[in-house]
Amino acid sequence: MISFPKTLLDGYRMFRTRRLPTEQSRYRELSERGQSPEVMVIGCCDSRVSPEVIFDAKPGELFVVRNIANLVPVYAPDGGTHGVSAALEYAVQVLRVKHIVVLGHAQCGGIRAFVDKIAPLSPGDFIGKWMSMFIKPGEVVEQRAHESMQDFATRIEKAAVFRSLENLMTFPCVEILVSRGKLELHGAYFGVAEGSLFVLDKAAKEFQSVRATT
Ligand SMILES: [Zn+2]
Repeated sequence: MISFPKTLLDGYRMFRTRRLPTEQSRYRELSERGQSPEVMVIGCCDSRVSPEVIFDAKPGELFVVRNIANLVPVYAPDGGTHGVSAALEYAVQVLRVKHIVVLGHAQCGGIRAFVDKIAPLSPGDFIGKWMSMFIKPGEVVEQRAHESMQDFATRIEKAAVFRSLENLMTFPCVEILVSRGKLELHGAYFGVAEGSLFVLDKAAKEFQSVRATT
């Protein structure tokens, strides 16, 4: 216990005294009945982009998987160990979530590493291999003429959401439920500095700002 981070211990005590009293019955009920979240969120590991915080979620409401740059791999039943695919399978086939939200964000370090082609992308490193799934075979992703590095990164951060949504549909269990209208896929993008949220209008292929008040 000595080396356990003090901030976490302090945070836990705050949780016990402030939050738990208001959530105790919910926790007990979730413990007895099990979880039944209706929403799965696929987000980035980034410490600034916590889905539970952004969506003000209560315990049991969101089934969350986070990875570098909120990427979903293509369906690949190749006998390998696939963390995101396993989480997806559990969410869709066991929990029967009704919505899957891919949550991208501004200033994504994974995307920045990808567009900068910086050191972590050297062969043998995990990030490079992981980010390479963003690219389709034969696809070239390059900075456009007159496009700043910032704009390039933002464009790719949003493209990563599109790609993950596209890849989700390669999973037969997802494709079937979407076609039957029992599962909906959504894209969103979080602006870290302003705390702003943009939701993907799939028909228009554009992210639209969500008003802070209704
Ligand atoms: Zn990120």
